[in-house]
Amino acid sequence: MAPQLVYIKTFGCQMNEHDSENILNLLASVDYQSTPDPEKADLILINTCSVREKSEQKVYSLLGRLKRHKKNGRILLGVGGCVAQLEGYKLLERAPYVDLVFGTNNIHRLPELIRTARQAKKAQVATEFHEDSPCHPLPELSKPFQVKAYVTIMEGCDNFCSFCVVPFVRGREKSRPSSEILKEVRGLVIEGVKEVTLLGQNVNSYGANVAGELSFSGLLKELNKIDGLQRIRFTTSHPKDLCEELIACFEDQPKLCPHIHLPLQSGSDRILKMMNRGYTREEYLLKIKRLRAVCPGIGITTDLIVGFPGETEKDFQATLDMVTEIEYDEFFSFKYSDRPKTQASQYPDKLPEEEKARRLSILQDKQKSITLKKNRTLVGKTMAVLVEGESKKDPLHVSGRSGTNKVVNFEGTLGLQGKIVLVKILTAHPHSLFGCLT
Ligand code: SF4
Repeated sequence: MAPQLVYIKTFGCQMNEHDSENILNLLASVDYQSTPDPEKADLILINTCSVREKSEQKVYSLLGRLKRHKKNGRILLGVGGCVAQLEGYKLLERAPYVDLVFGTNNIHRLPELIRTARQAKKAQVATEFHEDSPCHPLPELSKPFQVKAYVTIMEGCDNFCSFCVVPFVRGREKSRPSSEILKEVRGLVIEGVKEVTLLGQNVNSYGANVAGELSFSGLLKELNKIDGLQRIRFTTSHPKDLCEELIACFEDQPKLCPHIHLPLQSGSDRILKMMNRGYTREEYLLKIKRLRAVCPGIGITTDLIVGFPGETEKDFQATLDMVTEIEYDEFFSFKYSDRPKTQASQYPDKLPEEEKARRLSILQDKQKSITLKKNRTLVGKTMAVLVEGESKKDPLHVSGRSGTNKVVNFEGTLGLQGKIVLVKILTAHPHSLFGCLT
């Protein structure tokens, strides 16, 4: 019998991208093959994100467009991830043609849900939270060849930042046993993986609520010993939990890439307090200073929110000042939007959309010029680049990343894929560098 085809569209963060990889792997074990074309699919899945209101709206408009595929009675349409977790049965009220709604804790049940939906010809909803279940309860499956891989080390978050829906859609913090993580990474290395990115909503608190478990720094040190593994990255870390032991890892753990994503969210102490972030701008600046002292040239990226309820021009200026002072390599910036169940959604003094858009555009213009300025300082320098594959823009070029997480393109062949090579930087662009092999 010919395999069934599954098309999956992913919204959101690396955690969601990794969940989608796991979904495809899991479905491969029940004879589904991935297709990039929804027209050919027997099963269409949307893996959703609800961190911003905009991404949630995108899901509903995509569902509206995909509805026409349902004319062919053979096709199942499913929604997973954060929106599914949050909406549950409500999603079926808004989109009654959907066959599957599966939350972030129910990915492992997907084969069974698909089977039941087909046999019973009835929509299946699975959004229960398994607070006691182990983190990441998916079977081990072999993955296609890849140079780099994501490895989930923890899920959920206990921080309850006032704007964030994650604790409600991903649940409380759960760490995976370090023995399982180390085994998975050793297996990936045997399959050819050179770089792993450790994933979690707040990786710095890895192991904190498990007696006898390694700390996050301890886990990094163990991973650093794995033969054949060349690079380690992690995301995301919370500034309040960035301890001195972890900062020291950037100095003494050679496989840890010199890059950190450290979400600031706002440069104003008043707004940081309302956001329940647990640090001040001075404390944040001190940590940046320490990181740069132990690891000169470290790439630093961040997340910022503009237009938080009650954010004044002075608060916004404080954010701009931090961006000017720190000179991030890049950042992700967003307009504040109310998220269900969050504290901030109840706050007064919401800003008009136009004002949020104005602030966002000022912030992004500032960052563009800083990023380009910083990238230009790299022209003439030689960087070690892990080659990931063909460049998206030119088939004669290959593309990879420096340890600091800069995208570097250069003339080369796919024979270099998976190798770390030295590239001399010739030109700098806003989001990438171009160079030649030395
Ligand atoms: S640390 Fe804050 S922003 Fe990050 S996932 Fe947890 S609640 Fe959300």
